[in-house]
Amino acid sequence: MPVGSLPAHQVGCPCCGLSLFIPVLTPGESALCPRCHQHLVRVETHPLDTPTAYAIASLIIMTIVYTQLYMSIDLFGMHIELTIPYMVASLAQQDYSLLAEIMFFLTFGSPVLFLLLCLYVYTGLRYQQVLPGMLYATRTLVRLRHWIMVDVFYIATLVSYIKISSMAQIHFGLAFWLMMVLAILLIRTSQGVPEHWIFYQIQRLTGHDPTLQIHNADTINCHYCLFEQPDTQNVCDVCGSYLSRRKPLSLNISMAFLLAAIIFYIPANLLPMMITRSPGTNLASTILDGIEYMWNDGDVLIAVVIFSASMAIPVLKIIFMLVLLYSAAYRPLMSARKLTMLYRITESIGRWSMIDIFVVIILMSAFSTPLAHVTPGAATIYFCAVVILTMISALSFDPRLIWDEVKQHPSHHKSSTKRHSS
Ligand SMILES: [Zn+2]
Ligand SMILES: [Zn+2]
Repeated sequence: MPVGSLPAHQVGCPCCGLSLFIPVLTPGESALCPRCHQHLVRVETHPLDTPTAYAIASLIIMTIVYTQLYMSIDLFGMHIELTIPYMVASLAQQDYSLLAEIMFFLTFGSPVLFLLLCLYVYTGLRYQQVLPGMLYATRTLVRLRHWIMVDVFYIATLVSYIKISSMAQIHFGLAFWLMMVLAILLIRTSQGVPEHWIFYQIQRLTGHDPTLQIHNADTINCHYCLFEQPDTQNVCDVCGSYLSRRKPLSLNISMAFLLAAIIFYIPANLLPMMITRSPGTNLASTILDGIEYMWNDGDVLIAVVIFSASMAIPVLKIIFMLVLLYSAAYRPLMSARKLTMLYRITESIGRWSMIDIFVVIILMSAFSTPLAHVTPGAATIYFCAVVILTMISALSFDPRLIWDEVKQHPSHHKSSTKRHSS
């Protein structure tokens, strides 16, 4: 078997709960769940080199992006030079420290930590050494993947550009152009670190082979590493996570976060999102006001983007989560395949709502002169809370419950659930 291959073994699909046998995977091959099409594992063509190279390249580019000029703005005879740290610092100085922390974590903290943990784990694998906390590092980097929002910030910059360019001259610096490369590299790096494969490699270093079949015991599949474990255990031997057939209290926790998000969504829409001051005027605008102004000003494209990010996505996400929670708790409202699709959409679109928050932050940094001054309104904090709470609600939801419920109400699901191999 080529180096880095994954032997044939039994896994549990984390999305639909199907227990299935996957054949030997050699570098360049991947396995999908035949029932819900969930991506189970992919072995990179160069399993050790590719993620390491992408992580190092990302860190180098990140250093440039966060130290060099992002954009410069000429407004009313004043020249303003913006770097990313300057934006975070000016938020903190103007008493928006919570917004500053959120921006710092989503655009810098989580990607840096993610990349450093990748390098740590892959260094251990490359030199065949079990480093302290390798399992914990792998579990943490998997969780951090959801909270990397460099791409969202980049799109927010493009939206802000259209807005600012109608009033001022903008020049983009090196950091702006490299941020696009960084966003792509980060996506590629996070796709290139398959946790199932990493956990197998770490266990191999410790002399255990988690792909060996378990005999004489009932088994349970770990939700995080997908390997089979005896169902008498509380903690997974392979990845160190807590073991359970389904995430404990998944529906209650998911519903609690969703309810909190729905409550916060009210002030997020009623309070001002952005306050614009210029001599003689003091304008506080809510999300809807902002969209209306832009539409009337002829900025149709930004109006559509902000409407999608700030109104459509949060509302759709809340509706989708309610459908999923109802279907998993009581009666499936549609087929399991469609519900799974809904779950995947909900999980992936949520982060894009942060566009509006990032736009307000960029506008605030750009318009900080006495002649034109923009500050974030109270709604920004509530809106951030809505985005974060709906994301946690989706992440707490156990999609396998959809398929459990469909089994009890078979009218919605006709395909067989026998074991497949791919
Ligand atoms: Zn599946
Ligand atoms: Zn596990």
